[in-house]
Amino acid sequence: MVQSGSTHNQLYDVIVVGAGPVGSALAWKLAADGYRVCVCEEHQTVPQTLRLEELSHHVVNLYRELGIFEKIRPALIPLDSIAHFRNGHLVQASREAPYAARYDQLTESLRPALSKVATLVWDTAVQVSAEGRVKSVRLKSGRVICGWMVVVATGGDGTTGKLLSLPEKPVCPHYSLNFAWDLELEDAERMSHPALVFRSTHTGHGYGYLKLFAHEGSPIRANFLSYWRPEDKRRRALLQDDALAVLNRTVEGLVPYVGPFRITSPIEESVLHLNRPQGAGEAGILLAGDACGQVAPSSGMGLRKGLNDVRVLAQLMPQWERESRSGGETLAAYYTHRAKVALDEEAVARSLRERKVAIDWRPEFATRRLIGDQIPDWLESAVVRPAIEQSLNFVRIYRSGLDN
Ligand SMILES: Cc1cc2nc3c(=O)[nH]c(=O)nc-3n(C[C@H](O)[C@H](O)[C@H](O)COP(=O)(O)OP(=O)(O)OC[C@H]3O[C@@H](n4cnc5c(N)ncnc54)[C@H](O)[C@@H]3O)c2cc1C
Repeated sequence: MVQSGSTHNQLYDVIVVGAGPVGSALAWKLAADGYRVCVCEEHQTVPQTLRLEELSHHVVNLYRELGIFEKIRPALIPLDSIAHFRNGHLVQASREAPYAARYDQLTESLRPALSKVATLVWDTAVQVSAEGRVKSVRLKSGRVICGWMVVVATGGDGTTGKLLSLPEKPVCPHYSLNFAWDLELEDAERMSHPALVFRSTHTGHGYGYLKLFAHEGSPIRANFLSYWRPEDKRRRALLQDDALAVLNRTVEGLVPYVGPFRITSPIEESVLHLNRPQGAGEAGILLAGDACGQVAPSSGMGLRKGLNDVRVLAQLMPQWERESRSGGETLAAYYTHRAKVALDEEAVARSLRERKVAIDWRPEFATRRLIGDQIPDWLESAVVRPAIEQSLNFVRIYRSGLDN
């Protein structure tokens, strides 16, 4: 076992850059599998940024599969059921058993266990050199860490491309404006389920969802994902002085259902741009999690994509060890891995589709808006959408017949 901080003259099996949820899960899993792992992270205390607030059952299953679930459990609050509203009407109450979790608490929950099995270095990586058999990471302090393999998990806020001098492909700039705050209901009994999700079928409202989570003993947490432009008047009103009025006008059924409420914290805001760094494989660099391409929270994928990277990397490590450590040829096994490619593509496709479902008036998106989550994706794409497209085609043919 390597002691925290002992980096001198060490050649690590793996250096993980970034100890967010993905980097720390990866480092923990590889160290538990017997590899000598060094993690470098710039923030010893996780900054309060608006990120992850809920874990789906897919994410929880991945944590279980990786053997990490028990370690992060103290940071999770079970949500036994979720009530879904559309245009103010209750359409479904599901029992998916997801968890509420704050980004900082989740990330910090794994660090004590990590520090026991891997070397943790609190410093900012400023350069990653992936040429040659031995790779290196240069830190702001001037220290250099060397290893057989480097995995960059520095998140998706644009720093990864700069750190590695990789071009970033914009997938959807200004994807969403996300807000979160605490609130208190005048009548607490009106929170009928641990989580309430409000959506609208009116494109003009321009939002994906408002989610309310009731945490026992703490205020209700609100997550609001909007597709407003930064210059939208509603954004200014929400952030400045008119939040209640904006929410009343935009989120139908909110006040009738939960009754009057008070916002009890500052409203946090974060802008999400979807980007993907290009050419990492060719440059001999392994990217994991958001560093490899961001996911919109509205896609319902979130951390699932990042933890899938962890699973795939952990699967490939023994093969890489047997071969000549990482090289161009072996990295392709990661970037072309079926499970990775499939989930990465699904994450982008779902992110873009969810945005259109909320704000695009065209019929193919209107169906999803109207039926919501009530039928599975495969049924929608195999049956409902083709049926609608065919009906629209008949209408077009009929109308062109009339015109002739
Ligand atoms: C608004 C919003 C809401 C979301 N909500 C959810 C949700 O409810 N559920 C869900 O599952 N997912 C959600 N997500 C997605 C989820 O937050 C991300 O998928 C997840 O944080 C990705 O983890 P990561 O470790 O890849 O990157 P990050 O969480 O960004 O972590 C990157 C780490 O790298 C460190 N780092 C960066 N640069 C350097 C450097 N040069 N040197 C050293 N360290 C560095 C950072 O300090 C950080 O600790 C949300 C995302 C957003 C933007």
